[in-house]
Amino acid sequence: MKKHHKFSIWYILLGIWFVILLQNYIASTYAVPTIPYSQFITLLQQGKIGEVAISSNQIQGKYKPPHTGPQGATEFKTVRVDPNLSAVLQNYRVVFKGEIESTLLRDVISWIFPIVLFVGVWFFLMKRMGGQQAGFMTLGKNKAKIYMENELNVNFNDVAGVDEAKQELVEVIEFLKEPKKFTELGGKIPKGILLVGPPGTGKTLLAKAVAGESGVPFFSLSGSEFVEMFVGLGAARVRDLFTQAKEKAPCIIFIDELDALGKARGVGMMGGHDEREQTLNQLLVEMDGFDPKAGVILLAATNRPEILDPALLRPGRFDRHVLVDRPDKKGREEILRVHLRNIKTAPDLDVEKLAAMTPGMVGADLANLANEAALLAVRRGKTVVGMDEFSEAVERIIGGLEKKNRLINPAEREAVAYHEMGHALVALSLPGTDPVQKISIIPRGIAALGYTMQVPTEDRFLMKKTELINKVASLLGGRAAEEIIFGDISTGAHNDLSRATDIARSMVMEYGMSDKLGQVYLSRKSRPLFLDTGLQESREFSEATAELIDREIKAIIDREYQKAIAILQDKKQVLTRGAKLLLEKEKIDGEELQALIDEENANRA
Ligand code: ADP
Ligand code: ZN
Repeated sequence: MKKHHKFSIWYILLGIWFVILLQNYIASTYAVPTIPYSQFITLLQQGKIGEVAISSNQIQGKYKPPHTGPQGATEFKTVRVDPNLSAVLQNYRVVFKGEIESTLLRDVISWIFPIVLFVGVWFFLMKRMGGQQAGFMTLGKNKAKIYMENELNVNFNDVAGVDEAKQELVEVIEFLKEPKKFTELGGKIPKGILLVGPPGTGKTLLAKAVAGESGVPFFSLSGSEFVEMFVGLGAARVRDLFTQAKEKAPCIIFIDELDALGKARGVGMMGGHDEREQTLNQLLVEMDGFDPKAGVILLAATNRPEILDPALLRPGRFDRHVLVDRPDKKGREEILRVHLRNIKTAPDLDVEKLAAMTPGMVGADLANLANEAALLAVRRGKTVVGMDEFSEAVERIIGGLEKKNRLINPAEREAVAYHEMGHALVALSLPGTDPVQKISIIPRGIAALGYTMQVPTEDRFLMKKTELINKVASLLGGRAAEEIIFGDISTGAHNDLSRATDIARSMVMEYGMSDKLGQVYLSRKSRPLFLDTGLQESREFSEATAELIDREIKAIIDREYQKAIAILQDKKQVLTRGAKLLLEKEKIDGEELQALIDEENANRA
């Protein structure tokens, strides 16, 4: 929590003390001294009273100048004793009236003024502290900006390299353009769409482009803005946002950084973050409460979908996910072209080569690159931006990204390419493994440097022994490829190893697939001991069996590793060519890989 959100009780105590002090001061300064009634009568008889105002039990009045009371007071008051006062007054020719000159005003001033002052000071401080924070007058009022269509000026042409995501959003645009027509035709529209992808890949841009393409207003708010306020305000803001949006429907509500708001609830020791939970609950209520036919589409962006509260992802809420991934080489080229539109570039500028020079960069990095190169050219007094400037800008940006640990170096990239090709080739060579759909060396997240995507052909409930064995082999294929090519292995395979070992262990202990141990179920019975210490094992077999299990698991792994090595030795040509292709294109699909293998087979025959 940031400092300025704590509105300390001390401020309030200080404020109250200040008010009391001021009130006393005012009261003592302007107080009218009270004199005894007898003295009043005496003064009256001496002709020192100018005028009085009489109420049923009090008399207040002024001395007749130049006379004054004690300490030079010009006014006095006294308790009325004599009911027949008026006759006496007339005797002494004093102006009198029946109404008491109100002290209310004075009292009010002495109280109200300091309070107003106090509030004013508070208000001022709030403004200073919060900058954009909600103050007194705008409690709960929402500052979601409403970009109207013509202000937005972003369309699909401005977003490049994310074709799949765009395709998924085309339907939404159609709906927003003519909600009625769309629903009459029986189209079903999602309420909430979650854009998932690393920072800077263009999620916000995409959301704006959807609004721009469909010509509807765009409300945007960031999840962290919702939370950075006083308790209760976040929820009020959510309510307000939806009310505003419904008035402007059809329209888009975009919530950036949904994870800041939508972290899974109630896990912390202290009962979590109340304000955030309230806000999240309100969001859920609003999402459930609006009819998608009204024409409000909720888009949200996150780069950490895994930490979101599952309630947010339920059907009827953010149930559709659109992946906005890091661009591959071709994607980067397209993005660069978008950002080069407004830059005067040298005619010999090779955008494709630029794209090849920038592996791992996302849209925001590339926008930055174009800008940086243009600045360099200006500094050098050039009229056009050439390859020199771009090369230098690339180096600068890569330097920055390397510091942030977001880029892998070329040697690592090569290792990853061979590793992933190893997985793919072993999988392709063995029966019963899922077909390889895509191999990529575009880093995803922190853990995976590359990935080989295999899609199961059908939902599986039963697996044959050979399938399991082959699965182990293809998991080990990555490391096998590293060993064959580099004669050395890397840490990049530890996830593969753990998965392979899990499969092997299940084969031995649960599925009775080990010859030496036979058809027995040996799995440990686990029960939670403490919440955090994980599972407590209770074995129901002997030490000797345990040893045998370990040996059998190791035997499976060793055997399959050798199998993977043998396959890759045999296909070393394809492995190398595939890895090179992968390094160049960063992403190849199953068909391209198959073509490569077929070509190689034809060469051999
Ligand atoms: P995110 O919301 O995913 O963090 P943004 O949409 O804020 O990323 O992207 C920041 C800027 O980077 C955009 O304003 C745009 O200039 C540039 N950019 C990002 N992705 C793309 C893309 N796919 N095509 C074109 N420009 C992009
Ligand atoms: Zn691997």
